[in-house]
Formats: sequence, C-alpha cells, structure tokens
Amino acid sequence: MPVRRLILDPGAFDLLPGVLALGGPGRRAALFADSRTWAAAGSACHDRLRADGWACAVRIIPDSPHGDPVCDDLTRDALLSDIPESDVFLAVGSGVVNDLVKWLSTDVRVPYAVFATAASMNGYTSGNVAPTLRGVKSLVYGTTPFAVLAHPDVLRDAPAALTASGLGDVLAKPVSVADWRMNSIVFGEYFCPFCARMIREIEPGYMERPESIRAREPAGLRALFEALAYSGLSMTLAGTSFPASGGEHMISHALDMTASEHGVPHDYHGRQVGLGTIFACALYERMLRLEAPAFRAVLEPTDSAYWRGISGHVEKEHAAKRAKVPAAVERLSRPGAWDALRAELAPMTRRAAQIKDCLRRAGAAHRISDIGCPKDRFLQAILHAHQMRERYTIIDLARAAGVLPGAAGEIVEEFLTE
Ligand SMILES: [Zn+2]
Repeated sequence: MPVRRLILDPGAFDLLPGVLALGGPGRRAALFADSRTWAAAGSACHDRLRADGWACAVRIIPDSPHGDPVCDDLTRDALLSDIPESDVFLAVGSGVVNDLVKWLSTDVRVPYAVFATAASMNGYTSGNVAPTLRGVKSLVYGTTPFAVLAHPDVLRDAPAALTASGLGDVLAKPVSVADWRMNSIVFGEYFCPFCARMIREIEPGYMERPESIRAREPAGLRALFEALAYSGLSMTLAGTSFPASGGEHMISHALDMTASEHGVPHDYHGRQVGLGTIFACALYERMLRLEAPAFRAVLEPTDSAYWRGISGHVEKEHAAKRAKVPAAVERLSRPGAWDALRAELAPMTRRAAQIKDCLRRAGAAHRISDIGCPKDRFLQAILHAHQMRERYTIIDLARAAGVLPGAAGEIVEEFLTE
C-alpha cells in the first residue's frame, strides 16, 4: 500500500511522533496549516512533536481575498520560496492544505504525512493535486502521503458543511465506477474490478444511516472517513481518477472553472458533486430504460461565449473528446452492444431518489438552491460539462442517444429544485 498508516484514533496526537518517524531518519518537521486548522489540530500536533524532541517549523498558509486559502501556483510559489530545512512535511488541514503540501512534497522530494481536520474529501490518500494554474483548474500527479492521521474529536468539530461535502464526494462512486466500466467496454480502458469492489463494499457504512453523519456520531464519521480514504486509495491503486470521478465531477468542475470568468463564487467540491451525482444517476436511469437507442455522433464547436477566457484550454480537451465520439458511436451501435453494456452497468448505478434522500437525511446540499447557485447557471454547467474534459461520461452517452440536452431541464425540475 502506498499509504503506510491510516489512523483514526483518540490517541492520534500521541501516535504522531512515531508515525512521522516512518518518513525517514531525521527529526526536523515542517508543519503547514491555515489559521483555522492550526487552531483545530496544528497547535496540538506542534506541541506533541516538540515534546518528543522534534524540531518543528510552522508555516501558516494565508487566506485568499475570498476567505479560505486556495491551491494555486501563486500560493505554491510563495510557500516554495520559504521552505524550512526539513526531513518530513506535515499537512494539518483538509482539501487545500493537503493539496498544497502534496504538491510541495512532490516538487522538493520531502515525504509528507497529513493530519486530517475534516471528513470532507477523498484526496488524503490519493496522489492527485487539483490546483488552479493561471486561472485554469488542472490536475497534477503528485506523491501520496506515507501516513494519514485523524482524531475523532477533530473530525466531529469540523464545520458541518465540510463533513456534508465529504458525503457528496463519496456518493459519486456509483456514477464514477459505472462511467469507468463504460470506458473499459467502449474504449478498452483499463478497469480494476478489485478497486471497484473495494468502494462498493464500504457503501453500506455511510449509505444506510446518513442521520449519524448529521448528528456527528463517531460511527457515522468513521464510516465516512474510511469511505473517503478507500475512495482515494482506489484512485492511487488504479493509477487513474476514473474510480472516483465521472460525469458528476465534470458538472462540479464546470462550476468551479467558470466561477472567476463569470464573477461568481463556487461552493465546496463535494457539495457540488453531490448535486452532480443526483443528476447523473437520473440520467443513468433514463438511459438504461432505453431498449434500442439510435446513437449519433453529436459534434459542436466549443462554446467560447460560455467558457470565455479559458476557451483555449477547454478547446484542447474538447477536441480530444470529439475525436473519440465516432468510435464510441460505432461500438455502441454494434448488434447486441447496448444490451450487453446496460446489463453490466445497471447493477453499478443507484437511483437518483436514493442519492438525494441520503444527502437530505445527512443534512447535506441536495437542491441547487442549497449551493447558492442560480438554477440556470447549474443547467448551463450540465449542458457544457462534456466540453471541458476528454473523459467520456454518462453525459456524453446521453448526448449520443439524444437524451440530452432535452432531459436536462426535466431532471433539474424533478430532482434538484425541491
Ligand atoms: Zn471528488
């Protein structure tokens, strides 16, 4: 396993020095946190390391003008210019802090561990960094941490919106795994049944009692944290983000990527992904009901009026997508291909109503209004999401079958408005 220790334990602070020593022989740590995660756990980590004889330099990552810190090239460069001499990095935080330290760790080749402060996303155990580079949301392949630690009380005290965001991120799995399987059948992409099963087997832990997440019960938070950890590990083991990122993520990425172009904020990753998952599951339901869809190659230019300043970047991805569309249509149209595909995908997907119910019972975002996004803006993200990544998803399949764009507004009204 790339991650050597995964610890969620009331003794996490006491275990920290011993776990950090797994990173190498030196005893110089550099601890990275933001002002909130420093208060939540960073200060306690620092004190525990010092008490154990470690040198522990601290870097507090500054907030962005909009609030929380961001993972972008400017922040990374600022941190790089002031890296303490150290044998090991310790990230104390969640999404952004973890991503920044993973990125630094990869760049300067210092091993890193993370002390998680929220069950908010699956990036703790993955090697992926999702930074913004010159304004464009990107993907950088980094190293995984050698250890992930968390304390139950710290996870319990994390902001509720962050925890609910974590649930949205893990609930995406039925869609992302079905999209992955579709890619393996249609395009011959590598598919790892072990990784898919690993994610499937932990599903009941968070799906069956979402109220326990809302109530911040230890068992519910543990199930969620473990699900996030395994979800990230499945990406690391498979060597691709396919196990945890399908069409539902594209919708969230489109909202993120256009936020600054359109001069509006975006919400937490997992909260947007949760809504994307409801939509994508509804789309799968409609698709899998079709007996004999007539697949057509639907090609269109990149909508530069929508993407504005990042149209050039999107066009590169979209051109790669357009190149795949005719082959997909040809394979899907072969005799028996559709029946074989839907027989394979049907058991992997979940009903949209089930996903929505789970999010609602957990106190998570389950309507467009919950994420502070006008309905038309969300609809436009659905209608443009296929242009921004070369990855073929349920959104592309539904477009090829003529289900989209027509069904988009109907699904939004049926599942995402109330
Ligand atoms: Zn995600």
